[in-house]
Amino acid sequence: MKIGILGMQGAIEEHEAMLSSLGVDTIRVKKPNHLEEVDGLIFPGGESTTMIKLINFTGLKEPLKEYIGVKKMPVFGTCAGMILLSKTIDNYASQETLGLIDIEVRRNAFGRQIDSFEEELEVKGIRGEPVKAVFIRAPIIDRAGEDIEILALHEGKIVMARFDNILVSSFHPEITDDKRVHEYFLGMVREWQESRKSTAGCC
Ligand code: GLN
Repeated sequence: MKIGILGMQGAIEEHEAMLSSLGVDTIRVKKPNHLEEVDGLIFPGGESTTMIKLINFTGLKEPLKEYIGVKKMPVFGTCAGMILLSKTIDNYASQETLGLIDIEVRRNAFGRQIDSFEEELEVKGIRGEPVKAVFIRAPIIDRAGEDIEILALHEGKIVMARFDNILVSSFHPEITDDKRVHEYFLGMVREWQESRKSTAGCC
């Protein structure tokens, strides 16, 4: 299994370190042909405005939409990565996104005073102790479409969700020592690999 981390800017190394500690190889996705080599994608946190510009500049926009939206390659977007995957941004309505998951997000939703904090969260589908979550100038999900599975709330606000092959979180699990969110995502990748194997010989 090989995971591609969108290699524009942001918390790339932290995801690489987390996946390497789980025995998984990674590459940095910087151009369209890199997508052919990977079984899943991570969109790291960082600065969503810079990332969308670089996605357009490198010609990755349509290929990413094809791989994620049509081929259903699993993707995990953290923080700015979640913003990129969202349908709309309510407080920056003109900012472009990939529009792959029916959620409306609010950037920098926790304001300046508490722009970074750590929290323990109950996450649906992850057993045992609460998950350690670090929020850094984090967005929240203000609206989620009917088909969106809500996985975690913080003070009543949606901070983690899933739709089919798309997992998003407002927070950064990669900078904690809690590996369970990445393990959850790798489970999605394994399922996708299995489903491709079972349809490969068919028809
Ligand atoms: N505030 C950033 C943005 O809006 C996201 C912050 C992060 O990814 N840690 O793009």
